[in-house]
Amino acid sequence: MDGERMFSLVKKLDFVRLSGTQGEKRASEIIRAECERLGVNADIETFATLDGVVSETKLEVTAPYIKSYSAAGYLRSASIDAELPLVYAEDGLEGNLCDVRGKAIILNNPVNKKNYAALIKAAPACVLTGDGDCFDREDESDLAPGMLRPSFADAFEERLCTVTLRKRDLFELISRGASSVRVKVVSRDTENTSRNVTAFIPGGELPQEIICFTAHMDSVRFSHGCYDNASGSAIMLEIMRHFALNPPRRSMRFIWTGSEERGLLGSRYYVEAHADEVARTCLNINLDLAGCAAGHEFAIVTGPKELTAYFDEMMKREGFAVETKTDIYSSDCVSYADKGVPAISIGRAGARGMSYIHDRRDTIDFVSAAALKKTASIAYTFARQIDAASEMPFERKIPEDIVKKIDEYLLRKETNKK
Ligand SMILES: [Zn+2]
Repeated sequence: MDGERMFSLVKKLDFVRLSGTQGEKRASEIIRAECERLGVNADIETFATLDGVVSETKLEVTAPYIKSYSAAGYLRSASIDAELPLVYAEDGLEGNLCDVRGKAIILNNPVNKKNYAALIKAAPACVLTGDGDCFDREDESDLAPGMLRPSFADAFEERLCTVTLRKRDLFELISRGASSVRVKVVSRDTENTSRNVTAFIPGGELPQEIICFTAHMDSVRFSHGCYDNASGSAIMLEIMRHFALNPPRRSMRFIWTGSEERGLLGSRYYVEAHADEVARTCLNINLDLAGCAAGHEFAIVTGPKELTAYFDEMMKREGFAVETKTDIYSSDCVSYADKGVPAISIGRAGARGMSYIHDRRDTIDFVSAAALKKTASIAYTFARQIDAASEMPFERKIPEDIVKKIDEYLLRKETNKK
């Protein structure tokens, strides 16, 4: 595993690669060209995503003082143009939401899949949330708008109007007791095209058994996503290079997914569109978060406990320090585990205050060739040994407690199961 070679690919991907944009498309073309340089044919598979555009957001406190604030409507927010009484609804507990119908409310937390149903029921006319930290410097940070994702918002007939402010401004509204706001949001739903890059190396001895690698190539708004996840993308290419030169016993699929940051859309599309292949897939090795110079190695098994034990024993024997556990991990591994394929996410967790994700501070400055090599060596060692195994040392089965967590994660109701 060549750290410098991986670092040079991270450098090539050092730009914003947001779902369904030219940036994501450019990344897919760079990765495809890298695959083809290794003599491995790669395809770009496109899929449609639901998106949104907010063309105007205005927010003005009208009582007990008058002041305008910069604000950003959530993508796929409802539109509004109204002056409304404003209530501070804290964390949106039942007691906070009992009398907010038709009013604007301030929430401490963003609007997401956890609180959306309760908010729809309470029916405020507008929800104000915050982004960042009171100590953010304006010239160093962005006002990220958030999104009412179709996965939770489209289950309801009504759509909330939801707006983000900087935390410092949101705190000012709270501390100065703002009681009335004029708010305008002009929002419309759109559709976009996102893409996965896929490559395949057929197995020499057990071609019908497939080991599938995933790494998402997209980033979030304002973020160059060098740590999350140009690094995982580069590691996956380096591992593919090894197997292109040293043909594996089992078949190997490599997927650089798009729109992971929008709710695992690329991998969810893939497992639906390629059900036959997924049925023959015995393991998913997912690479999401790596390369941060300061951090530690981790592995999360979204699958049977025997796989966790097998991996942990191997790492100790090989002299790697890896924090290993069985759990779900918010990444493309969930799409595979949901289809009954045991998954392992291998990565490097950044040290606090020395690494950043999901904002503009996720830059190449915090990524190193040495750190890339560490995670790559672990994933490579594991992949090589599991490919050499006479049979998979674990059952192709997801334990009940993990299935339950996946259902919760994917917002599946108990009654919809099976
Ligand atoms: Zn990620």
